Amino acid sequence: MYAEKIVFYNNAMREKMLFEQKILDTMVEALEQGQFQIHLQPKVRVNTEEVAGAEALVRWEHPELGLLSPADFLPVFERNGFIYSLDLYVWHKVCSAMQRWRQMGGADIPVAVNVSRMDIYHGDLPSLFTELVKDYGLEPKNLHLEITESAYISDSRQLLLVVEQLRKTGFVVEMDDFGSGYSSLNMLSELPVDVLKLDLKFLRTGTDAGRRHRIMQAVIDLAHTLHLLVIAEGVETKEESLLLEEMGCQYAQGYYYGRPVPENEFEKRFLHLECQKKEY
Ligand code: C2E
Ligand code: MG
Ligand code: MG
Ligand code: MG
Repeated sequence: MYAEKIVFYNNAMREKMLFEQKILDTMVEALEQGQFQIHLQPKVRVNTEEVAGAEALVRWEHPELGLLSPADFLPVFERNGFIYSLDLYVWHKVCSAMQRWRQMGGADIPVAVNVSRMDIYHGDLPSLFTELVKDYGLEPKNLHLEITESAYISDSRQLLLVVEQLRKTGFVVEMDDFGSGYSSLNMLSELPVDVLKLDLKFLRTGTDAGRRHRIMQAVIDLAHTLHLLVIAEGVETKEESLLLEEMGCQYAQGYYYGRPVPENEFEKRFLHLECQKKEY
């Protein structure tokens, strides 16, 4: 009986090790060959459902393992430092897309990129992002940087310095997954952040929906008192969207409004760039 269990664990661990080894062996050439793709998901104004921005989310079209999502490879990249190379690539791609939209006369909407806590220690992010937007002819306020709540909590000092600098330079900083961890409400008044992204667990996880929603309402009200914008994450239904409208939450993101899609599809569906192009 025990032997069986041990064999089972060993197999699962072996599978995991092989998978991770494959990822390590193939990541460098994957980046060189353009196997990483950026998908964009709309952020909308809750009351009108107009697109107010987007979030860039990376995918890996792996020739042997198929389409991989961030959960499959990001933890490995965060452990070995490759995350910084990947994020640099993503940030360039996003800026290049925004530059193209501008040149096509399309919407000048802000796009958010995810910044891993590991990136904070790698380079001089304020200078890097400043150069980046300059090179692509963009304004800092159109590049939003999403940093998860857990990074804010575990890495406070260095992170707060970097974030303060970024905000001074004009970049918009969003705290991702707010409410998923251990942040307390009173800490909000001290954190340098412009936007709170409410974790999807406020909408769905757990049994006592009434209680969750009352907490959510309190968070939204407090955030507004502190002049923070609030975006609800993971909105999947019309009901949830209506609930957010009642709660006075101005922005939202989720499958209900639109899934993350490849850049060209995002341009067609959410920016109507093709139609615009024909007018010229
Ligand atoms: P996140 O930044 O919190 O992104 C939101 C995640 O929720 C995305 O998962 C998105 O596809 C998913 N999502 C969106 N709408 C809904 C919905 O209505 N319901 C549900 N259940 N999920 C929804 P994804 O794309 O798998 O990304 C997972 C995480 O990986 C992201 O969480 C982010 O922390 C990280 N990530 C993604 N792309 C990058 C990147 O380029 N760089 C870095 N450093 N991290 C990234
Ligand atoms: Mg995010
Ligand atoms: Mg999030
Ligand atoms: Mg998340």
